[in-house]
Amino acid sequence: MVREKLYGRTLEELTDVTTAASLPSYAARQIAGWLYRRGAPEIDGMTDLSLAARDLLQERYETGLTPPSAVATGSDGTKKYLFPVSSNRFIETAFIPDRNRATVCLSVQSGCRMGCRFCMTARQGFQGNLTSNEILNQFRSLPEHESLTNIVYMGMGEPLDNLSEVLKSLEILTSSWGYGWSPTRITVSTVGITGRIEDFLEKSRCHLAVSLHSPFDDERQALMPVQKTHPLGKILETIRQFDFGRQRRVSFEYIVFRGLNDTPAHVREMARILNGIRCRVNLIRFHAIPGSDYTSPDQKEMESFRDSLNAKGITATIRASRGEDIGAACGLLSTIEQNKNR
Ligand code: SF4
Repeated sequence: MVREKLYGRTLEELTDVTTAASLPSYAARQIAGWLYRRGAPEIDGMTDLSLAARDLLQERYETGLTPPSAVATGSDGTKKYLFPVSSNRFIETAFIPDRNRATVCLSVQSGCRMGCRFCMTARQGFQGNLTSNEILNQFRSLPEHESLTNIVYMGMGEPLDNLSEVLKSLEILTSSWGYGWSPTRITVSTVGITGRIEDFLEKSRCHLAVSLHSPFDDERQALMPVQKTHPLGKILETIRQFDFGRQRRVSFEYIVFRGLNDTPAHVREMARILNGIRCRVNLIRFHAIPGSDYTSPDQKEMESFRDSLNAKGITATIRASRGEDIGAACGLLSTIEQNKNR
């Protein structure tokens, strides 16, 4: 019999479980404590539940943690883990240590349907949404999870295309009955889906990062087909109208392609469209993927573009490329693994 997983359930969902099993109402909090604070690997280890309660739960449930199946370690200390998910599929999770920070980059879908032209994950097509269990398992089953300081939802898939499971995972990470993480240590990165971005902003307090990649509609659409149905102008309008307060941050991710989106015209247009938004632009050097015509700028070109943006009043920083010798572009490793298993 396949048992259902407890890990990845919110307190409300755990309460449904304990109510259905006729357990006392406080049992849901006890289970949440074991799952998210005390780290009980098995139901049997939840020793403040009665033996009878544990037996009852084990008939139908398991904790449901899955270790990674493989890891690639880069010379800079970056690690990429592969986690198996259902139907012979694999997702990637990156661990990125950096001086006093240690960041995990979580995937939210297997494959992706957004079709960004520069992305290896896009070539896998959409294979399925991850459950809250599968999203959080990447955090909890990461061998370095005790050392983590930051979480970014920037791996495979589009978070707003799997919003309900993403919100559930954020609730578990930030609630006092869950991991109790500060939302200011968590960033969710999106291509920007109109209609859902409002939901995300209202229902979570985590930072928002939006993939920009070009300030020109036609050029952005050529890079990111999603621009056609979810135009940047509308996303920026939503951001302008939302009160981010003092703690919450909005940033823009900008992959730099040599000669394509790093010209003085791009600097001028970015200054125009971002005018009035308190934000930061993260410049990311394009990581080559097989069969792509896009090319990467060198460090000098990156710095020159950053300086031009700064001179226009845009706070722009260059994100250091990490894990280049282990397939920095997200989706490379899982594609290789999936092809092996065909
Ligand atoms: S860049 Fe992100 S949103 Fe775009 S196809 Fe790749 S995984 Fe999906």
